[in-house]
Amino acid sequence: MSDHTAPHRQFASDTWAGLRPEALQAMQEANAGHASAYGDDPWTARAVRQLRALFETECEVFFVATGTAANALALAGICQSYHSVICHADAHIQTDECGAPEYAGKGLKLMTVRGPEGKLTPAAIRETAAKRRDVHSHKPHVVSISQATEVGTLYSLEELQAVGATARELGLHLHMDGARFANALATLNAPAKALSWQARVDVLCFGGAKNGVALADVIIFFDRALAADFEYRRKQAGHLVSKLRLFTAPWAALLESGAWLDNAQHANRMARTLESELRAIPDIRILYPVQANAVFVKLPAAWNHALHERGWHFYTIADGERLMCSWDTQPEDVAAFVRDVRACADGT
Ligand SMILES: *Cc1c(COP(=O)(O)O)cnc(C)c1O
Repeated sequence: MSDHTAPHRQFASDTWAGLRPEALQAMQEANAGHASAYGDDPWTARAVRQLRALFETECEVFFVATGTAANALALAGICQSYHSVICHADAHIQTDECGAPEYAGKGLKLMTVRGPEGKLTPAAIRETAAKRRDVHSHKPHVVSISQATEVGTLYSLEELQAVGATARELGLHLHMDGARFANALATLNAPAKALSWQARVDVLCFGGAKNGVALADVIIFFDRALAADFEYRRKQAGHLVSKLRLFTAPWAALLESGAWLDNAQHANRMARTLESELRAIPDIRILYPVQANAVFVKLPAAWNHALHERGWHFYTIADGERLMCSWDTQPEDVAAFVRDVRACADGT
């Protein structure tokens, strides 16, 4: 049973954190009085304006309630039912969306590929796309990558450009699951446009929930032709939110103040601190490079159990323990966790 009254914050997931206070305040302000519904309101217009300014292009922007809906609808929007999407075997769209992309895509198929550190390589994309080109198999149409990946790693700018160029060369669209795009941007420290459309990303699902910005995630089409009729698809799927201003006012406020980036920088910093503290403890292995807000470790089985007994919550994923930092993770939380891990190591 989760114990959210515990004195410290958990490392279970960045979805466990609440909204940043400014986000809640922006929601409260937008809540006053009446405003027209379904996104025809000044807060949504401001959020769209801010996103276009951030990406320095006239992209098409659609807010939806969850990251799963964003991925599923974005992929369905650019695929026919006979198309396939090349993705990593650990991709959220493959392992954690209950088949939502296939459901929305009405026959669409995911072609999974293994790759080091949660990433696809140009060679693996080429090989997968070349496997079958006959009418009896799905037709490859999209490459989907996660940035940050599900194991907390990042495609460097060069790796991203190489994936984009490969997709383009093969005539495939590029979809980016950016549930943690902010964390990627915070580390890579490159302009948003370089990490998206300039690297040939056609559609980005940009996460707000895990950042503490808002409840909603956003689908951004850089190739505007791909957004044709998307408005109808979103409505049919039940993701045109009537009181959209309550979702978009926090986005507008945190994009304007820069707090969204600050959230991501802070979470990444906490992850790096946690990593370096854990590295110093014998018998702990760090499984992946820590490049965003996740630390994957391999703890002795007895420690995992003992830490849960002490009230810590975290998930065992990808052959290890996943520790996620959030916008509100505090140095004291890291210190308290490390103290308890040390107690396991000392057998006390
Ligand atoms: C959390 C997450 C999502 C979206 O999750 P929802 O719970 O549907 O909001 C999508 N992709 C990745 C990589 C995620 O970690």
